Formats: sequence, structure tokens, C-alpha cells
Amino acid sequence: MKAMLVERLGPPDVMELRGVPVPQPGPGEVRLKVEAVGINFADVLAVAGEYLTRTRLPYTPGMEFAGTVDALGEGVTGVQVGQRVASLGGRGGLAQYALSPAAALIPVPGNLTAAQAAAFPVSYFTAYHGLRTLGHGKAGEWVLVQAAAGALGTASIQLAKALGMNVIAMASTEEKLQLARDLGADVTLLQDDPERVQKVRDAAGSKGVPLILEVVGGRRFQESLDMAANRGRIIVIGNASREQASLRPVELMKRNLTVTGLWLTSLMGDQEATREAAQALTPLVASGQVTPQVGPTYALADSARAFQDMLDRKTTGKVIIEPQR
Ligand code: NDP
Repeated sequence: MKAMLVERLGPPDVMELRGVPVPQPGPGEVRLKVEAVGINFADVLAVAGEYLTRTRLPYTPGMEFAGTVDALGEGVTGVQVGQRVASLGGRGGLAQYALSPAAALIPVPGNLTAAQAAAFPVSYFTAYHGLRTLGHGKAGEWVLVQAAAGALGTASIQLAKALGMNVIAMASTEEKLQLARDLGADVTLLQDDPERVQKVRDAAGSKGVPLILEVVGGRRFQESLDMAANRGRIIVIGNASREQASLRPVELMKRNLTVTGLWLTSLMGDQEATREAAQALTPLVASGQVTPQVGPTYALADSARAFQDMLDRKTTGKVIIEPQR
């Protein structure tokens, strides 16, 4: 089969298209014929060797994908060959066939295409945990969504609106802000607006924002502190700027702020939180109240270009790679 292989860390073009053996599922695993792979900023960071965990080489990127079950490993029950599923936490997705723990499979509602199914798990579960599990967001509250036209950003806007929250969306271009408005954002702001801190505070009633989903990091992290309301909650989800941020803990005292980290990978081990998120998300997706936003799609051989376009901030929604075309 064809797969993208990474043998050394670096920019996206270190990935190469290769012919490799079809993987065999081990105990508790299933093999999927991969129809669509959702690309996450984490994949870009892992190839660069800048992710939270060490990247073990050689490897095939792709942790989030959708397709049909093609083979079952020993001891797998409750899953049938031919079933349409998505995997949250599989490995080697940038290939025609890939493995996933059976426990990491999510049934795909019949109304979703393979690309929409691949755009769903990471972004929507992360958005739910940011808004609710850790953010404790309530109907009627304001939330600030950064990188609002991206995969996580579009998921966060839709979910926040479905939960009855008011959304301030920030992004780098007017086109991206238009997408945020189309998805229901109440207030939109260019992320380089020189008066952004005051405008965000004003939008939320001049008292600052109670909940911030912080994904940019670096110098922007300090601004998030400045935008937050008294008792504001800042959920640190990403560091798209790849810059270091500094935090003086005493600053949190002034307005009784809470800064909380969120990493989906470690939260997935929390079965109660995962079950609660799935119970909230499944009906919203199945009814079409939230629709995973499929961004640009690429062939497997163009994976490096897909990663580079994401790094260059050219993409909106979830970047998708279709290994069978
Ligand atoms: P996106 O589709 O949102 O793409 C990344 C976006 O980040 C860009 O489109 C860009 O939007 C924004 N950005 C801001 N500053 C920069 C910069 N200096 N260089 C490049 N991009 C920048 O990706 P994802 O939805 O996959 O991820 C969004 C963020 O959420 C990432 O930081 C990611 O690591 C994090 N994340 C964390 C998870 C977790 O478990 N903690 C799970 C999922 C995502 P714009 O042009 O509008 O600024």
C-alpha cells in the first residue's frame, strides 16, 4: 500500500510517499481502509519534533481518520467488518490502510461524509472539553475563540452557540472572520487589530471575557490575561505561534483568574469526561445542528503541501487528505 513516511524530523517536506506492507491488526485493534484523514496542528508539530511527546522515527503521521473496518484483531467484539467508523487516537492514518485500537473508534452518523467524519473527533471533543469540562461555560456567557476559522475554531464556535453562549471570534483575515460569522459568531475581530484588547473587553460588556480558549500562545497569552474578566477562565489549548509565553503567577491574583491546560490525549483516559462529551456531541452532529467544517482536501501524495498550507495559515476548517484517490 501507499503511505507517507517520516524518517527525520523537520519541515513538512521531510515526509515521503512510499510503498509499505499493509499493517496487521494486533489484539484489540482493527484495520481501517482509510477514506479521509483529518490533519491537526499537532501532526505538523510532531513531524517538526516540537510536539508535547517525543516523535519516534520512522513513522507515518495521522491520528484522526475515517473509513471502513477492513480486518479485526484478536479479541475485538462489537465492531463488524464493513462498518463505517472514525478513529480518535489511531496511528499511521496517512496511508491506504491504518490501525486503530477498537476502543478508539466512534460510529459515524449516516448523515456525515467520510471527510466530515474525519473532521469531527479531535476538534469537537477538544472544543467540548474547553467549553464545558474544563471551561465550565454556561448559556448566556461570553467566550473568546482564537484562530476562529480553523478546525478547532469552527468547532468551538458551533458548539458554543449550540450551548447558548455568546462568541467573540478572532482570526487573521476578513475572509476567515466571514466564515466565523456564517457559523454564528456574535462579534468578530481581526487578530492584529491594534485595539483588540479593549474591543474584546467592550464586546463582553466592558468587564472582560469570562472564558477564553487560548490557542495562539507566545505574546498573545499575556493579552488573553488582559482580556479576561474578574474570575475569568483561560483554557490553554495550543501554541500555534510556537513562541514561548511567560506567566507571573501573582498577576492571576489581581482579577482572580484561572489558567487551565487542556490536552485531549490525556483527557481521553478519563472515561466519564469522554462519555459525557460523546453524549452531548452525538445528537448535535446526528441532527445537523453542528456540522464538521471540511476545509481543503488533498491526495496522499500532496500531504506535505497540506501541512505547509496549514502552517502558512492558508486553510480554514479541517484540512483533509484522501488516501484512496
Ligand atoms: P487550525 O486549523 O486552527 O490551524 C492553525 C491556525 O492557527 C491557523 O489557521 C492560524 O489562524 C492560527 N495561528 C495563529 N498564529 C499562528 C502562527 N504564528 N502560525 C501559524 N498559525 C497561527 O489548527 P487546529 O484546529 O488543528 O489547532 C488549533 C490550535 O489548537 C493549535 O494550536 C493546536 O495545537 C491546538 N489543539 C490542541 C488540542 C489539545 O488537545 N490541546 C487539540 C486540538 C487542537 P489565523 O490565521 O486565523 O490566526
